[in-house]
Amino acid sequence: MISALNIEKKFDKLEVLKGVTLEVHKGEVVAIIGPSGSGKSTFLRCLNRLENIDGGSIVIEGDELVTTTSDGKVMYAEETQARMICRKMGMVFQQFNLFPHLTVLDNVIEAPITVKGVKKEEIVPEAEELLYKVGLQDKLNSYPSRLSGGQKQRVAIARALAMKPDIMLFDEPTSALDPELTGEVLKAMRQLAEEHMTMIVVTHEMGFAREVANRVIFMDNGEIIEQGDPEEVFGNPQHMRTQAFLNHMS
Ligand code: ADP
Ligand code: MG
Repeated sequence: MISALNIEKKFDKLEVLKGVTLEVHKGEVVAIIGPSGSGKSTFLRCLNRLENIDGGSIVIEGDELVTTTSDGKVMYAEETQARMICRKMGMVFQQFNLFPHLTVLDNVIEAPITVKGVKKEEIVPEAEELLYKVGLQDKLNSYPSRLSGGQKQRVAIARALAMKPDIMLFDEPTSALDPELTGEVLKAMRQLAEEHMTMIVVTHEMGFAREVANRVIFMDNGEIIEQGDPEEVFGNPQHMRTQAFLNHMS
């Protein structure tokens, strides 16, 4: 579903991704863990072209988003095609980025209408169902300012799903939440995983990664240091840096 090969990314002289390779299969839930500054967010942002890469290739569901020629030239798909490819991925950020002037329902239906041209009468029932699924059926007409952080993040998840993505990318979706609100967001994500959504989740929630992910990736300093089955990575980490990180987290 996703094939990212040898991704390199620099910010000026800072090498943030030093050749990261990750393949994700349909229905797989991949958790990415690692210290702050290791390049986790940048990697996710490269996948859906919020950042341009400096080397490597990305293929999404068989469509080439970007490739690098043997002489090092990075070539992106043509703009319309690139946008189509990236639209297969929904993203949820640490900060919810809801539109403050729109109700919950209007936040969810906005992109399908303006970006995809879906008819309002078609998307409203779908949006209501998504909001029901994340437990917000009684908040359709509320404004974001009246919601808790956990509720806002569940709106953000429903909003991403309203675009009918094949892949969901989550970048620390619970890090900005008070601890008592993380559970409701993790529950919505767990449900998605149970419905076999293909997911990449950057997270500090080790319990979630251990229980829900099919594979755990440990990144440090712009590289994948170790990856495997959650029980292996958490129960018997091979690399010293993984051990140190997990000790520090617990
Ligand atoms: P993580 O998500 O693992 O905490 P990031 O991908 O956010 O790591 O950041 C990796 C490195 O790239 C950090 O050193 C960060 O300061 C740097 N970085 C991230 N975004 C930018 C940017 N837009 N401009 C310059 N440096 C950046
Ligand atoms: Mg980050």
